[in-house]
Amino acid sequence: MKITGFKLAKLCVPLITPFKTALRTVTKIEDIILLVETDTGNIGYGEAPPTAVITGDTHGSIIDALRYHIMPAIIGMEVSDLSAITSTIQSAIVHNTNAKAAAEIAVYDLSAQAQNQPLYKMLGGGSPALSTDLTISLDGVDKMVADSLLAIKQGYKTLKIKVGNNIELDIKRIREIYKHTKGRVGLILDVNQGWSAEQTVKALEALEASGVKLDLIEQPVKADDIDGMQFITQRVSTPVMADESAFNAAQVRELLERKACDIINIKLMKTGGISNAIKIANIAEDFGAKCMIGCMLETSISVSAAAHFAAAHADIITHIDLDGPVLGTFDPVEGGTTFNGPKITLGDGPGLGIRAIKNLQYIEG
Ligand code: MG
Repeated sequence: MKITGFKLAKLCVPLITPFKTALRTVTKIEDIILLVETDTGNIGYGEAPPTAVITGDTHGSIIDALRYHIMPAIIGMEVSDLSAITSTIQSAIVHNTNAKAAAEIAVYDLSAQAQNQPLYKMLGGGSPALSTDLTISLDGVDKMVADSLLAIKQGYKTLKIKVGNNIELDIKRIREIYKHTKGRVGLILDVNQGWSAEQTVKALEALEASGVKLDLIEQPVKADDIDGMQFITQRVSTPVMADESAFNAAQVRELLERKACDIINIKLMKTGGISNAIKIANIAEDFGAKCMIGCMLETSISVSAAAHFAAAHADIITHIDLDGPVLGTFDPVEGGTTFNGPKITLGDGPGLGIRAIKNLQYIEG
């Protein structure tokens, strides 16, 4: 099976409710879809969201990186040469991790199709059933409590609470949500770089003293503040997770060597795809650390790839944060992985199992 060409398309899925973090507010998923063509007629699917304030990738940069740098470098390559293809993708252009992720996802999809097995089996096996948490967007206290109670009704066992825009109000948000949900759900706090190291330690000490139990605190300080991450990790009993500080294998190794976090949040859009995600999971294993698998605002194309990867590394990836598809008003993908509330079920079809994608708007050029 040889790569012969590609198409690009835009896919728009409005969100059920706006997604709000300390960094941004988004009302729709509007991602670039990559269709990689082969001489056998098989198509590999990839997806990249614009995440300007996180990875720096925009619609324009994703399209250009794929069209002029990444895809021309791998056209003509044999799908069976998977490691040669992924290293070509990674060296075709610096940064542009979302575009690289889209290309790698499509190529891994094709590679598993060529082997006639689901991607997770090609990656090492595991269970096809996963359970995701749900994000509670940053909002007024009452709205966040109501959203949390609704999520419990929908069967979610873990909620990821977005805070980070006002520490006094954030503490009130957490206390109120904990009071109303205590014992029924696990809480992860995602600060999205909104606090200082000293503020974080004080806030967690106050919360711990008042009996609030959190499963994790995620990325409390700025991405490049590794000293701050280390300061916090060494002073609080709540496990600390690195997200924006942990894009690549070198950063993950430094964080774990310095004991600057307990857990790593792996996202394919940060790592530039599956090959580096595997490297990070292996580094975490060497350090005895666990990982979360996360996603950006993505549909079930790229989130499905993340789920397959997580299933194959279930001993390391103990936290699943793949709620992108359920935040959308509809699932544009036919076939493959199903996303039903907290339940993710991987399909048995070859590769990602995608048969068709609705509402694709092809990009000319
Ligand atoms: Mg995060």
